[in-house]
Amino acid sequence: MTHLMIVGGGLAAATAAESLRSEGFDGDVTVVTDEAHAPYQRPPLSKGYLAGKEGLDAVIVHPREWYAENGIDLRTETTVTRIDPAAHSAEFARGTAATWDALLLATGSSPRRLPIEGHDLQGVHMLRRIGDSDSLAEQLRGGGKKLVLIGSGWIGMEVAATAREFGNDVTILGRDAVPLAAALGTELGGVFRRLHEQHGVDIRTSAQVERIIGSDRVTGVAVDGEVVPADLVLIGVGAVPNTGLAEASGIEINNGILTDASLRTSAPDVFAAGDVANAYHPVVQRHLRSEHWANALNAGPVAARAMLGQHVSFSAIPYFYTDQFDLGMELSGYPPLMADADLVIRGDREAREFIAFWVDHGRVVGGMNVNVWDVNETVQQLIRSAAPIDLAALADPGVALDSLVRD
Ligand SMILES: Cc1cc2nc3c(=O)[nH]c(=O)nc-3n(C[C@H](O)[C@H](O)[C@H](O)COP(=O)(O)OP(=O)(O)OC[C@H]3O[C@@H](n4cnc5c(N)ncnc54)[C@H](O)[C@@H]3O)c2cc1C
Repeated sequence: MTHLMIVGGGLAAATAAESLRSEGFDGDVTVVTDEAHAPYQRPPLSKGYLAGKEGLDAVIVHPREWYAENGIDLRTETTVTRIDPAAHSAEFARGTAATWDALLLATGSSPRRLPIEGHDLQGVHMLRRIGDSDSLAEQLRGGGKKLVLIGSGWIGMEVAATAREFGNDVTILGRDAVPLAAALGTELGGVFRRLHEQHGVDIRTSAQVERIIGSDRVTGVAVDGEVVPADLVLIGVGAVPNTGLAEASGIEINNGILTDASLRTSAPDVFAAGDVANAYHPVVQRHLRSEHWANALNAGPVAARAMLGQHVSFSAIPYFYTDQFDLGMELSGYPPLMADADLVIRGDREAREFIAFWVDHGRVVGGMNVNVWDVNETVQQLIRSAAPIDLAALADPGVALDSLVRD
């Protein structure tokens, strides 16, 4: 009987397993995760779950029973320590091993470490797993704490919003001149900066963090020659792909596991999907590694079909969403093309109700809707069509957006 193995406990692993069965595969499927929970999605860990508004059921993709009902062998708390592509085998931390006919590496990414003095003091957190969110929530829930966030990326900004809503004092120490500048550019990063400042978050930019201070427990963060008092610190300085297994087995790595458009790695019958994969994108004609929820959601099924021998190509437009205070946004676009694009704004930026478009050589390559809903599919159609766009009409909320879509 054919045996397909998935390594990972995130959304890419869950959606791949689901697709193997929905595609009619009736052979053996094993999902191996080193976490205690069935595979889950992480966005709520800095938002609704952290805020106590959502429970575990909003986080776990399928309960354990689903795996049993679908004849999938789910092995939790099991680390895959080695894979051998030539022998088509995998070894587990408990000393056992198994063979497979095709293998999916959906090993995700881990928070980037910040090797400064004091990073291991009590009260210094990172956020990736359910347990991390639980222990942060426990500290923040009652309010009245001083939280210092090191890093002004998505995780820092989202946790800042949740922590403020609990009534904590929040300071963000960001290395860039504007929060989220790497993802959005300085103009749109400024929208998020103002949002946070209006909600009482102290944002310090171009900050050089020197060390974290305390004897056992953290008491402050030394930054630019002063000490910011802290009861709690969250380090959110990005993530690194978990490529160790692949690298040790000789699979090609370059900013993640390199794959072709069908999510095949350089080793026969080994595939990669989600945060860990740097996949060739047929539209932008280069490799893209996307650390976003929608990438894991959509790439898992494509990898599953590729494992079943189907001819597939993963060409989704990268998509991201966030919720912070009363701002909800969705962003679709190709980051490499957005880097040098011009911005066109439709709507009211000050009122935080607008769509921002990234336009490159007269074509829409990215779009972010802020507190404007049911438009992201149209934004994606505009990007996909790659047709020349009328800039005045694009900026005019009086012109229906879908009237601008060309085939
Ligand atoms: C707090 C937080 C908030 C986020 N919010 C958003 C958001 O608002 N919007 C958005 O688009 N994205 C968001 N993301 C990013 C999104 O969650 C990731 O892109 C997504 O989790 C990637 O899924 P994945 O399945 O590729 O990997 P992961 O979710 O990282 O899962 C990989 C799994 O593999 C396991 N594993 C690794 N190595 C082994 C091994 N050797 N053996 C066994 N198991 C192994 C890991 O423990 C982990 O369980 C957020 C991420 C975090 C942490």
